Amino acid sequence: MKQELFDLSGKVAIVTGGNGGIGLGMARGLAASGAVIAIVGRNEAKSADAVADLAKGGHKAIAIAADVTDQAAVTAMAERVRRELGRIDILVNNAGINIRKPPHVVSLAEWDSVITTNLTSAFLCSQTVHPAMKAAGGGKIINIGSMMSIFGASFAPAYAASKGGIVQFTRSCAVAWAADNIQVNAVLPGWIDTELTQRAREQVDGLHGKVLARTPAARWGEPSDFAGIAAFLASPASDFVTGTAIPVDGGFSVMG
Ligand code: NDP
Repeated sequence: MKQELFDLSGKVAIVTGGNGGIGLGMARGLAASGAVIAIVGRNEAKSADAVADLAKGGHKAIAIAADVTDQAAVTAMAERVRRELGRIDILVNNAGINIRKPPHVVSLAEWDSVITTNLTSAFLCSQTVHPAMKAAGGGKIINIGSMMSIFGASFAPAYAASKGGIVQFTRSCAVAWAADNIQVNAVLPGWIDTELTQRAREQVDGLHGKVLARTPAARWGEPSDFAGIAAFLASPASDFVTGTAIPVDGGFSVMG
């Protein structure tokens, strides 16, 4: 296979929630293939650290402080990327939160907060970058789902609804924007060792052991496990791949 298939030189990628965990793992993969990265998150110190980390590897990146649930902030973020980096080729909708409560306990405000952060933000960011990608003759959007895009979880009704929604949103954008040469795909992580799941391990009894027993690869995933799938879905190698939801889960979703 020719190396150019995965070449992202000259491309600009926005990674929401790119200041840590899976988002930073993906940002590293995109940067290693040659893309310039805009790290988007609310925590400015964490984003500055992520930019410094990428710079240490010789990669160009900028940090943008923005809440992806706020339409005006998303518009300003995209304008800044175009102004400072000149174009938008790749969008990774990765920002996400979870509130772990069963459906009979979760409040409307908690429900709204999870749906808005995990699902509505992907709509806002995708709609905002669409004109730039269309004008450039194409683009790549990568949405982050979850095993809860497929399975239910008693302790995560809003999260599961948001991640199921991400898959259907992905399919709809893939169909709508195929004519604009924009490929839209979802990645469904298994259980990955990040800040999000460090909290889950504190809140859900026995989670660590259950994940190990249920994952054929017999380990938790690492953020670095997402570098390759990000580079693939952002590069010419995936130009005929659209509307898919690809598990990156050590076999979790196929375990009988
Ligand atoms: P982290 O908590 O490490 O990362 C979440 C990121 O989202 C942070 O960078 C955070 O940045 C950002 N974020 C949250 N809310 C907002 C907001 N309103 N505006 C902008 N940025 C926001 O978790 P993970 O890396 O684990 O999660 C990344 C994605 O992967 C999420 O969508 C999650 O649901 C998904 N996922 C994770 C799994 C896992 O096992 N870890 C499994 C399946 C899916 P900041 O706080 O600076 O805003």
